[in-house]
Amino acid sequence: MKPINIIFLGKPGSGKGTQAEILKEKFSLHLIDTGEILRRLIKEGGPLADNILKTIKQGGLVPIWLVVFCWLKELIKIPPEKGVVFEGSPRQLEEAKILKEALYWLKRKKIKVIYLNISDEEIIKRLSTRRMCPNCLREYSLELNSELKKTKKCPVCHLPLKRRPDDNPRTIKNRLVSFKKDVYPVIRFFKKEGLLIEINAEGPVEEITQKILESL
Ligand SMILES: [Zn+2]
Repeated sequence: MKPINIIFLGKPGSGKGTQAEILKEKFSLHLIDTGEILRRLIKEGGPLADNILKTIKQGGLVPIWLVVFCWLKELIKIPPEKGVVFEGSPRQLEEAKILKEALYWLKRKKIKVIYLNISDEEIIKRLSTRRMCPNCLREYSLELNSELKKTKKCPVCHLPLKRRPDDNPRTIKNRLVSFKKDVYPVIRFFKKEGLLIEINAEGPVEEITQKILESL
């Protein structure tokens, strides 16, 4: 059996992270989460960290060479028989082309690109209630988790949850604008390549997972 390589596309807050995590567990895939790798780099500090943080705060995209470096150094270490799920990449057309080329070159030709489609209104509602643990960097939705809504603490680290610096209303709107500018070409590219699966991602998590599993 050839290993599967799944790429998630979707607006910030569309549920990519949650669904990627579910598929990772279900098929024991290696998860490459570009956003998490970048946040780890921020935690390490230094000039690179300052630049990344500044870019994210402005709702912009970090340079393609840096995101490629982030996922590539993980990708090349994964055993060839193990499947991979990507979250947070690619977010620009050039990155998408490099990723497809890298996967092909590594003989990972079984590629499924899942686009979680969801309205701007729903995204704004979801992101304004998203919180992150400052220690383990896990993300939680206060909207989907009534227990956390009361405690507002990470169930793993027991530290108070914080709003992600890029989850304030102004940057959310900026991120939706740049999503359309940057990621729509990526979606069109994968569609043209015959690799795209589009899923209506409004609704309960289990329902979306079911739709994804049926489509694979
Ligand atoms: Zn934590």
